Amino acid sequence: MGEIGKDKRWDVMYDFADYLKTTFPRVHKDLKTETVNTHGLVYTWEGSNKDLKPTLLMAHQDVVPVPDATVDSWTHPPFEGVYDGSYIWGRGASDCKNQLIAILETLELLLDADYKPKRSIVVSFGFDEEISGRRGAGHLAPFLFERYGTDGIAVAVDEGSTFEKVWGQTFAKPGVGEKGYTDVQVVVRMPGGHSSIPSDHTSIGVASELIQAIEAQQYPAHLTDENPYLGQLYCGAEHAPDFPKKLSKLLAARAKSQPTCPGSNKKKTDHLALEAAKAGPATKYLMQTSQAVDVIAGGVKVNALPERTEIVINHRINVGESPQTAFDHLTALATPLAHKYNLTLHAFDGVPEAPLAISLSKSPNTLAVAPVTPTAVDVVSPYAVLAGTVRAVYGEDVVVAPGIMTGNTDTRYYWDLTRHIFRFGPGFDVELDNGMGSIHTVDERVSVTNHVNAVRWFMMFVRNMDEAELEI
Ligand SMILES: [Zn+2]
Repeated sequence: MGEIGKDKRWDVMYDFADYLKTTFPRVHKDLKTETVNTHGLVYTWEGSNKDLKPTLLMAHQDVVPVPDATVDSWTHPPFEGVYDGSYIWGRGASDCKNQLIAILETLELLLDADYKPKRSIVVSFGFDEEISGRRGAGHLAPFLFERYGTDGIAVAVDEGSTFEKVWGQTFAKPGVGEKGYTDVQVVVRMPGGHSSIPSDHTSIGVASELIQAIEAQQYPAHLTDENPYLGQLYCGAEHAPDFPKKLSKLLAARAKSQPTCPGSNKKKTDHLALEAAKAGPATKYLMQTSQAVDVIAGGVKVNALPERTEIVINHRINVGESPQTAFDHLTALATPLAHKYNLTLHAFDGVPEAPLAISLSKSPNTLAVAPVTPTAVDVVSPYAVLAGTVRAVYGEDVVVAPGIMTGNTDTRYYWDLTRHIFRFGPGFDVELDNGMGSIHTVDERVSVTNHVNAVRWFMMFVRNMDEAELEI
């Protein structure tokens, strides 16, 4: 995307802002409405007690595209917002225009009811979350930081994990952590020349050898104490009827054998993580750094030796590790190869490529693992308020457990504003139990029961936060 004002594709956001204005007239009349970097939306409902830190509700206005080739596969057209009596169909219906509309609907209803908050309510809507959020959340977060300062917000709720039935038990899993992120680019440059008199190895061959070495060695599955998935396992062991016995035993053993020195068991095989990872890749990668060689380019002509081959490796970094873990690992793999082929190694030294060299560099969107949100329930914490609200709306049968996100939301820009960030979609339809509602694919939809429940949840959460005398 080009700059706002130049690239016309951003202008669709004006229409959306107009739609919100007509649909939620009281919000736009009675609350302070501000725009940040043209399309970022901030609504502020000032509370009567200025000593209380605000509740922040977030969502994003943008959606991923619908590829032309898939339009015909949709049951209802992706951009018509068809409501068939059970579902609202369309791109963005569950990621996450449902959340955005539910937030505004909540405020409109509270205004109609003459509600007077003590604790301020702040709403922040980005507009480019699906392409990293740099122009939206990247501007909104500093704007709010200027106003509220470090830890100036009591709690932030953004899109994220939802509800899931596992081990015979329904869980709500607000995301309290996010894995880190980095793409590493590797460029191998070797002499060109005519392919009739080749060297034994070309840049393609050397890059291939590196790829083999990368894939031969996966990152270890490892559960640190602060990994939210460990909390999920403990909750499962305590509350889920079908929780695997083997995992229960390993959990009990882990609880007994806590190392006295933090990190002293790091090199040991993590049997609990390995056993839990057997549930499948979606679970495994909650406790393991992922690596995927996703891009390769090299060579131009069949009779010319390739002077340059490039690969890009995507990583999502496990809790307890950092992008540096991946950089060190790749450097260790590339070092012997550079020696073997008499090439210079530029490992993350700012040289993206050079003749007769293997160069490794990190992408500018490299992101550390998010700080983990506290999940204490023995004190009045935002997590306790959130969990209590879930059980008030959906009943005591739902167990709330800490969730972890393998992707990143707009909250990546908000870490300094609050320690209490939840990536959580509070809407749930007990009858349908359909989780994420086909996000990013054909037939994205949300059940209207799910949506109404989301509004009920936000109504109650805002009021519970207002009453709560937070201890952390
Ligand atoms: Zn989203």
